[in-house]
Amino acid sequence: MHPFRWVPADGGRHATADVRLAGAYAAGEVIGSLCGRSVMVAEGTEIAWLWPTCPQCNHEARSLVAAGAGT
Ligand SMILES: [Zn+2]
Repeated sequence: MHPFRWVPADGGRHATADVRLAGAYAAGEVIGSLCGRSVMVAEGTEIAWLWPTCPQCNHEARSLVAAGAGT
């Protein structure tokens, strides 16, 4: 379990550390993403999940995973 989630927002898939205990993010909710932007969560449709992954979020997420390896 890593301390971030991928969410479809602003036309791309961003990772966020704004983890909700309840699980899901509400469409229209503004969250802080790992790339340092504030992005608005989109509806979790199949199309939304086909959006391109934000390269900066991908980089940050990989760093978090590497840092947490073995824990
Ligand atoms: Zn991003």
